[in-house]
Amino acid sequence: MELIRLTKAYKGVPAVRDVFLIVREDEYLTLLGPSGSGKTTLLRLLSGLEKPDAGQIHLNGEDVTYRPPHLRGLGIVQQNYALFPHMSVEDNVAFGLRYRLIDPVTDEGEVKRRVAETLELVGLTGFEARMVGQISGGQKQRVSLARTLVTRPKICLLDEPLGALDANLRERMTVELRKIRETLGVTFLHVTGNETEALAMGDRMVVLDKGSIVQADRPDVIFSMPSDVRVARFVNTYNVLEGAVRDGEFQSAGQAMTLPEYARGSEAGFYAIRQDAVEINAAGTVPGPGRTGLQATYIASEFLGSRFAYIFRMPNGGVFEVERHLSHSDPVTYKGGEACSLSWNLSDALVFDPSGAALETTVFKGAA
Ligand code: ADP
Ligand code: MG
Repeated sequence: MELIRLTKAYKGVPAVRDVFLIVREDEYLTLLGPSGSGKTTLLRLLSGLEKPDAGQIHLNGEDVTYRPPHLRGLGIVQQNYALFPHMSVEDNVAFGLRYRLIDPVTDEGEVKRRVAETLELVGLTGFEARMVGQISGGQKQRVSLARTLVTRPKICLLDEPLGALDANLRERMTVELRKIRETLGVTFLHVTGNETEALAMGDRMVVLDKGSIVQADRPDVIFSMPSDVRVARFVNTYNVLEGAVRDGEFQSAGQAMTLPEYARGSEAGFYAIRQDAVEINAAGTVPGPGRTGLQATYIASEFLGSRFAYIFRMPNGGVFEVERHLSHSDPVTYKGGEACSLSWNLSDALVFDPSGAALETTVFKGAA
């Protein structure tokens, strides 16, 4: 599926602007964006529930921009499940097969067989007769998925499918969704506001902000080479410092940091360093060769299961976070209010120009 300059506004306010995107066959594509960034609008345009103001949607080379939803061969799993509470699990899943306008399945044996097959796929065998009003949130989520998958869509559009689930269940479902997709060989376009989910699940990932695509690439590339400072913020694993270059150094939070080689002589507006690339030392420790850093005050630490987050305050009041995986080191304790020296390798620093665009690194050139 190809989206060409897709644009949609509500009362003059753009919700999706100039979106170019190619959705490939048999891929898991995640779309990450904050609330209000246009994720749902984009899915509604693709599914045909909404018409664009401009641009085109091509499916296997055919223009389907104005084709009604039921003739597109796509499935959509809506944000709020949209199930029938007084119908059984089985009837909810069968609904789309029995009553669709095109090619309804009238052979009840066939309906039963396909529903059973799909319920097995989503792990709901045995729940056929339960009323949807009497099952858990996680099970509703599976019914909703089954109801879409039973129609064998070419592309399955999922709108924040795990958003309503608690953290444990969400983690389990991420693994299952990937497995289900691989079994079927169908393309999933999974929309989410959760960066961990987007990074973990997608073969490819698209980052959306204010209706526009900011970056589209493999999750590991987006994670390590955000093309824009907004992406660095969304992935939520970077400390992003705002500032400017003075006397050849990056000045921010009342401190000066050395710029990595590739950024020297360029104008810079933002400097980002991954939370797990930072070393904590006693106050006054001078960073070694090839390193730079800043002074900060330790505030508190937070235990996050497999890792520790150490929170520091910079002289300008800003927060700086350092992350330690427990497999790498034993947790170290600091006293609240203790001054520390934080440092990192220059090669780990990312620099963005004042507009937010990443300065080109040798790594970028190498990848292109
Ligand atoms: P997301 O799903 O990323 O949270 P949406 O696509 O729902 O974002 O919304 C994008 C923008 O479009 C928001 O500013 C939202 O208020 C606006 N919007 C979405 N749907 C409508 C609508 N039916 N009428 C008016 N404004 C809308
Ligand atoms: Mg939405």
